[in-house]
Amino acid sequence: MSGYAELFRRGRGRHRRRRRAPLKTIAVVSALVTCSAFAATRMDDEQADCVPRPGADGRASTLPAWCQDQAAGRPVGAPAGKAGGGGSDGVPHDGDGGNHSRVPAPPEPDGVYDRERCGNTSGRVLLTLDDWPYNDPERSVRIGAQLQSQGVRAAFFLIGKFAAQYPQITATLRQQGHWVGNHSFSHRQLTGLTDQELQDEIKGGVAGNLLRPPFGDAGERERDVAAELGFRICNWTIDTHDWEKTEGNPRSAEAIRASVRDASPEEKRNGVVLGHLFSNFPNALNDIISDLHAQGYQLCRNTGPVTDRAPNPLTC
Ligand SMILES: [Zn+2]
Repeated sequence: MSGYAELFRRGRGRHRRRRRAPLKTIAVVSALVTCSAFAATRMDDEQADCVPRPGADGRASTLPAWCQDQAAGRPVGAPAGKAGGGGSDGVPHDGDGGNHSRVPAPPEPDGVYDRERCGNTSGRVLLTLDDWPYNDPERSVRIGAQLQSQGVRAAFFLIGKFAAQYPQITATLRQQGHWVGNHSFSHRQLTGLTDQELQDEIKGGVAGNLLRPPFGDAGERERDVAAELGFRICNWTIDTHDWEKTEGNPRSAEAIRASVRDASPEEKRNGVVLGHLFSNFPNALNDIISDLHAQGYQLCRNTGPVTDRAPNPLTC
């Protein structure tokens, strides 16, 4: 797991949030760094297909042969029914996932675009839900409807190969007023890929302009390639650790709720909360929202349907 040292270097404050977490083993800490469902410590059968575990060196390990075929066959195209790309933020856009114009997007210098906040300058808190609800794909849109009814806009970062099988889910989420972003095609660790694989993973993901790299892991190369393809990196300020298991048991909704409630004001203001679609995070949403309100914070407002473009700065 020594490769995670790189993540610490690149994280730009990503780990300051660890101070409130209970003491854990080093192994768990390294898993926390990955901040995602696909940490080596939690691999349910239904969630493990085509998803490499980080190897001993912290890099993505080899995929099973059938997964490599799937990943290499061709990037999955943009989901049907996606809204048209207006390019309102100036980012060049072609929605077909291929034949990119190669017009480089402007770089994201530190201090201008804060990737941990996804450019959120609203003061409000953005809830984000990653990966896929493996046993219940429709859970995504039920969560979307629930948040919509509460006037809350969230961002969903769906794994491309699953989203492509259910294009109506992406379309419905956007219709419900939620941003849907790219979480790569098959959730490989981008920093372990060749340049070509990296491009294929992004192109095969959900069309749009926000990229949440699997495990939150992206360096300068990944940022630059993403920018060439029209994407900004979008990570988080609050990790709910909802993907974490203790003795085989998933993290409870109450523990997930507490991780948001007890986060610092700095992490909440203009903050971004990381949760997942397969965990107890959705079950904790009502309490998370009411806690934030009680503490005087607002959540990103749902003002109706959105396109596949999220604005920069992220006004919400
Ligand atoms: Zn993920």
